[in-house]
Amino acid sequence: RSHARRAQRDTSTTTLDDVAGIESAKRDITEIIEFLKTPEKFRALGAVMPKGILLIGPPGTGKTLLARAIAGEAGVPFFSISASEFIEMFVGVGAARVRDMFTMARKEAPSLIFIDELDAVGRSRGTGLGGGHDEREQTLNQILTELDGFEEHENVVVLAATNRPDVLDTALLRPGRFDRKITLDRPHKDARTAILKVHVRKVPLAGDVDLEEIAARTTGFSGADLKNLVNEAALTAVRLNLTEVDSHCFDIARDRIVLGEERDTELSE
Ligand code: ATP
Repeated sequence: RSHARRAQRDTSTTTLDDVAGIESAKRDITEIIEFLKTPEKFRALGAVMPKGILLIGPPGTGKTLLARAIAGEAGVPFFSISASEFIEMFVGVGAARVRDMFTMARKEAPSLIFIDELDAVGRSRGTGLGGGHDEREQTLNQILTELDGFEEHENVVVLAATNRPDVLDTALLRPGRFDRKITLDRPHKDARTAILKVHVRKVPLAGDVDLEEIAARTTGFSGADLKNLVNEAALTAVRLNLTEVDSHCFDIARDRIVLGEERDTELSE
């Protein structure tokens, strides 16, 4: 686990071509990309872009991927921090990190901030779950302060990801804060085919591989699971000394993932 707890700044090379099967979410983000590219066009028309956007969806459905794709397409710096890292820190550290990150992002605007696992600090206040409570609350308050402190001309878009929108403090969802939502669901069959296509781009496939059939047999898999499936299949091909990944490799990979998950569930029960 990384101990580099300062916000990460990087330049994203992810594009919308790397994101598949979430067409409606893609449409929602086109506007954000346009804004980050040409904020002056929006300002000239008196249009105000929402500053905070909540990405909602189960683990592995592409929330981080989508945030990176926005930054990549718009060609703006990407600042990210995971809210869960604040939980065990000394009181005040999380708030300071948040402040630093917003300061950096403002300096380099137009830019994008991504807060992963927002629910780790953004849970409804007063639920008294103990452990690190003050720290959590201070960090949350700092995020709210930063969002409220934006001037209209500051071209910073803040995206936050959560898979527990139900536990979020309502203060986060008020107008001017995270008042826009993009929901990502687990992919249905056609979406799974599209996601598989993205991940086999660099994989030599044998003629007997039918991605639609694989998609049909991977109900419940997330985008991250499908990526893992393709990689497991490729590793299997290496192990079997093949020059192409065939459908047998995908069968083995799928069994491995499904059985592995069952084992994990047993262990955690
Ligand atoms: P978590 O809640 O666990 O942080 P997440 O929703 O942020 O998950 P990502 O980290 O974006 O999920 O997904 C992990 C990886 O799975 C991505 O880097 C990508 O390779 C793959 N993936 C997920 N969704 C998609 C998708 N819609 N299209 C293509 N690849 C995807």
